Amino acid sequence: MYEDIAETLLTKEQIQKKVQELGRIVSEEYKGLNPLCICVLKGAVPFMADLIREMTIPIEVDFMAVSSYGNSTTSSGVVRIMKDLETSIEGRHVLIVEDIIDSGLTLSYLVELLKGRKAASVKIITMLDKPERRKVDLRPDYSGFTIPDAFVVGYGLDYAEKYRNLPYIGILKKEVYTR
Ligand code: 5GP
Ligand code: MG
Ligand code: MG
Repeated sequence: MYEDIAETLLTKEQIQKKVQELGRIVSEEYKGLNPLCICVLKGAVPFMADLIREMTIPIEVDFMAVSSYGNSTTSSGVVRIMKDLETSIEGRHVLIVEDIIDSGLTLSYLVELLKGRKAASVKIITMLDKPERRKVDLRPDYSGFTIPDAFVVGYGLDYAEKYRNLPYIGILKKEVYTR
């Protein structure tokens, strides 16, 4: 696994420090609002797990799975709901927890869908942001790191379902996905 990584982009320590910072910020902003943190499966699992433990206010969690990628490294633009929420979000303050925003297609679809269900508010927190590749006008409300246009893995992010358990974020060697 480790030998397939060309370069470490963000270390475990950098990630931890950033998640603590984000946890403080959202705890302040969502005080008294009992936010519903929605983890977008599967990539956002480590971020969600770390983030909610840095939140010092009452929250609730739920999970959604959408597909837009398959095993390729570029967006297909097709969004399908593979798993929906368990409860109604009407009147709730929703915080979508994402691993990375690339084209923005997945999240712009998701945000519209959740707003349509009459949430009181819908905001986005993402660990990583790749603004160079955006295809729609979508900005996260909270973001950990802005990164250059490279395909990254680790800390939840996969290539063909692998590398999600890397404790840091790295750039995959090109030969891994061209072989
Ligand atoms: P978007 O719809 O914004 O183009 O894509 C969002 C999803 O694509 C992310 O949640 C993630 O699953 C996947 N994705 C986008 N960029 C990367 C990347 O650099 N590495 C990995 N592993 N997945 C990515
Ligand atoms: Mg994701
Ligand atoms: Mg993926």
